[in-house]
Amino acid sequence: MKNIRNFCIIAHIDHGKSTLADRLLEKTNTLNQREMQSQVLDDMDLEREKGITIKSHAIQMEYTARDGQQYTLNLIDTPGHVDFSYEVSRAIASCEGALLVVDATQGIQAQTISNLYLAVGHDLEIIPVLNKIDMDAAMIDEVKDQVIDLIGCKDEDILLASGKTGLGVEEVLEAIVHRIPGPEGDENAPLQALIFDSVFNPFRGIIAYYRVFNGTLRKGDHVKFFNTGSQYDADEIGVLKLKMQPRQEIKAGDVGYICSGIKTSADVKVGDTITSVTNPAKEAIAGFEDVKPMVFAGLYPVEADQYEDLRASLEKLQLNDASLTFEPESSLALGFGFRCGFLGLLHMEIIQERLYREFDMDVITTVPNVSYRITTTQGDVVEVHNPSGLPEVTKIDKIEEPYIQAQIITKSEFLGNVIKLCIDKRGVMKNQTFLTQDRVEVNFDMPLSEIVFDFYDKLKSISKGYASFDYHRTGFQPSKLVKLDILLNGEPVDALSSLTYTDHAYDFGRKMCEKLKELIPRQQFDIAIQAAIGAKIIARETVKAVRKDVTAKCYGGDISRKRKLLEKQKKGKKRMRQIGNVEVPQSAFLAVLKMD
Ligand code: GDP
Ligand code: MG
Repeated sequence: MKNIRNFCIIAHIDHGKSTLADRLLEKTNTLNQREMQSQVLDDMDLEREKGITIKSHAIQMEYTARDGQQYTLNLIDTPGHVDFSYEVSRAIASCEGALLVVDATQGIQAQTISNLYLAVGHDLEIIPVLNKIDMDAAMIDEVKDQVIDLIGCKDEDILLASGKTGLGVEEVLEAIVHRIPGPEGDENAPLQALIFDSVFNPFRGIIAYYRVFNGTLRKGDHVKFFNTGSQYDADEIGVLKLKMQPRQEIKAGDVGYICSGIKTSADVKVGDTITSVTNPAKEAIAGFEDVKPMVFAGLYPVEADQYEDLRASLEKLQLNDASLTFEPESSLALGFGFRCGFLGLLHMEIIQERLYREFDMDVITTVPNVSYRITTTQGDVVEVHNPSGLPEVTKIDKIEEPYIQAQIITKSEFLGNVIKLCIDKRGVMKNQTFLTQDRVEVNFDMPLSEIVFDFYDKLKSISKGYASFDYHRTGFQPSKLVKLDILLNGEPVDALSSLTYTDHAYDFGRKMCEKLKELIPRQQFDIAIQAAIGAKIIARETVKAVRKDVTAKCYGGDISRKRKLLEKQKKGKKRMRQIGNVEVPQSAFLAVLKMD
């Protein structure tokens, strides 16, 4: 087998993963100067702006080591956000080693740890790298101690580097070659290749990225995907440099791509195994999961006649994002739209933004919610993705909601605040571990719905930014939940209904009314805002009438200025909805997200 090394980089967000990856590409001449552009691995505009790697990619480098031998290094990039943790786990499963990049000015953070656990769980060789050592604020000794405590390595195993200046980057390459074991596997065995990512290309269909564990994939082979059962011809296979480079075969141990004119992402699932139709492997590579959306929200076109366009746009987005789901729904308040399922709130934001940028679709998004599992008095079990789809109260025997285990790392001085916040959010503390004298890790069982909204922002503010957070799902648990409705001038607005924890319902209803009062602009009549549980009104606010002539202050005959003002007002109205006789802005539908 060739000298191959397969590795990934695990790091907390902003610790310098992409910057270091760029330096590796540069030092191995994978990029020439002209191609060198900062952070090439984050190639989606949106990613670059949000500063996160949304989809994982892979890139192959050739490196001539100091021992004179040539090595092929496959860097498998991993997404950096909890919403995409399943993809991270498949990328890690495709590697033999990992660079553990820790920002020397920040130290170990929650995502460093959760991804590290994944890597250790897959027996990866861990190479710790302290990054950003060019900065004055680097706390080299302190962070080294944290790393030693965490992974039990020796002081001299820790590399010091700066992705910015390039310092120590060659040592990183040498460590990849000498510390990470080469891949094992039998190139003559039946084919087993693990898909760790896929992308949609408008001209070529789905392109899947995989790591071959056993066997050899040859151009033209008839292949099948174990879990989805779909079959294709390997029209083109190859390796990924900066561009796709076609090859005749990809052997055990290596990483590559396949294009087969596959039309839909539903056929190519991350975690699935590619094998040959004529000589199939006996079993798939373990660990396949069909990822399910965790968060749901209604998406409605601002202009009702854009419903079909919205459907077409969502279908296109789904081609390259199998984790997005949608089904038609209608709302009395908002008309026809779609109930969409997302992996998490960030994923939802990304979809909303892509609809806007790539498809010019302006949408109104309703309050997101988790999925609820309802057992009816008849004994049927149904999953409900929309509070307004709940059966009648008298027909509900049990409501369950998804729970997570939260992992938070903070400084000891903020521990009290963190615990209080988690308990307010219905958390139950599981354990608490001091990582060093003033850094502590706490674990809580919590309902997912409590962290879907503003948990992360609150955590940041109560800890002055010194808390990091990660979570994983643990399953459904029964909860005491009630449906809370909002009425505007006596009309219930279904898009504002929510399920809330019974003991918090009064407080929640009151805050919701207060927030809506702020968000709904005054109109020419009074607007009553009420919160209700069933027929019982539990809170009320009033938006007082106002008579406002916006052009009044443009005295004199400046027509063009007047027109501009009216134009501006029209634009501002775009994301408004008429409900009964009340105009409701988009922000009101997300009021829950802004409450404290
Ligand atoms: P990622 O989220 O882990 O991919 O982090 P990035 O590579 O995007 O880096 C986050 C920020 O840290 C960017 O502003 C980088 O310019 C900066 N950065 C990354 N590495 C270094 C380094 O070694 N030294 C300094 N001073 N800044 C760095
Ligand atoms: Mg990055």
